[in-house]
Amino acid sequence: MTLSRLALVAACALIGALVSRPSLAQALPIFDAHLHYNDEAREPFPVPSVLALFREHGVRTILATSRPNDGTRALAAAAHAAPAAAPRVVPFIRPYRNHADRATWFRDPAIYALIESELERDIGWRGIGEFHVFGAADAGTPQVKRIVDLAVSRGLWLHAHCDEAALEALYRHDPRVQIVWAHSGFTVAPARLREWLERHPTLVGELSYRYDVTSDGRMTDAWRELFVRHPGRFLLGSDTWINDRWSRYGEIVAIYRSWLAQLPRDVAEAIAHGNGERLFPRR
Ligand SMILES: [Zn+2]
Repeated sequence: MTLSRLALVAACALIGALVSRPSLAQALPIFDAHLHYNDEAREPFPVPSVLALFREHGVRTILATSRPNDGTRALAAAAHAAPAAAPRVVPFIRPYRNHADRATWFRDPAIYALIESELERDIGWRGIGEFHVFGAADAGTPQVKRIVDLAVSRGLWLHAHCDEAALEALYRHDPRVQIVWAHSGFTVAPARLREWLERHPTLVGELSYRYDVTSDGRMTDAWRELFVRHPGRFLLGSDTWINDRWSRYGEIVAIYRSWLAQLPRDVAEAIAHGNGERLFPRR
């Protein structure tokens, strides 16, 4: 092969790599591990319209929660009725009846009763959350301990929006508890996150609102290093906690795809859907 021909082949290979990487990311199925279908979303975004959103944006599986839990039941029923037109639903019990419960659930006995009654009306619940708790005192209540014990004994996951002190307290209740850390702690730096992941093998980081993964569209070195070191420990999420997030659902997924395209293929596949499917297998 002549030098110029060699250069041409190399150039083509480079162009091929640049062109195909984003399109591979476009094609990746998505496991949405942080989804709320709350009561205020149901009228502007009825079930058929959210199912259409999932299909349009390649969302294969959703970890669904809602306040109250009827929204999750509606999604699970729709998926059961028409599996080809809906994502697989991994339902989590939300320990909130209303907004106010967010501030008191961890010491309100009515919430423990709510969790028990939801478990009795079992729709295949896989976890409890997303719940919010901050500081060691609130996460250290006897009721949170009971919920952790219940989760461990039933093989349920927790989906916790919490700070590091609360995370520490959850693991102090029982180091075996399986936790999806909502927003990966929101502001916890990648190096610190790595310490948490290495200390607790049952912890996975969910990545909604982590706009710090990229800077001017490029993945930062710190995040890339962490994803490549621990590809099995991250999940994506839309976090449709307000209706505006439903309006921007496609944009949220597109942002994920833009940085997944910057990762090695196997790492991108794991984070996009492989980890979720492995941790929450069909049953
Ligand atoms: Zn949330």
